[in-house]
Amino acid sequence: MYIYVLHFTTKLHHAGHYTGSTTNLLERLRDHAAGRGSRLCQVLKQRHVEWTLGTLYYTKDRRAESKLKKIYKNGSRCCNICTNDTPHIPEDCIELPIHDLKHPITSQELREHGLHR
Ligand SMILES: [Zn+2]
Repeated sequence: MYIYVLHFTTKLHHAGHYTGSTTNLLERLRDHAAGRGSRLCQVLKQRHVEWTLGTLYYTKDRRAESKLKKIYKNGSRCCNICTNDTPHIPEDCIELPIHDLKHPITSQELREHGLHR
């Protein structure tokens, strides 16, 4: 499965990142861009807080997401966008290059490309 870190373009209270996991990345990102899939992403949509996919991992470890949230402060220490030094890569995770993705990675672009399935 994929584990992803969304980097918010503006902070929501003190939150600047959202970490989640999925087997279908594009569908999951579309859901989040539409304000679906998590309470936080619903609030982001309501407050017009946009986000960009900051980091993407592949793992077979089902516990990797919860480990990442605990150890790496909800993904902020793994974010390629705002981490100055080399971001931490959680064990049992392989980092995937985001620029290789063939689909949009920002909430704005995802909505512009259509959220219908
Ligand atoms: Zn970030």
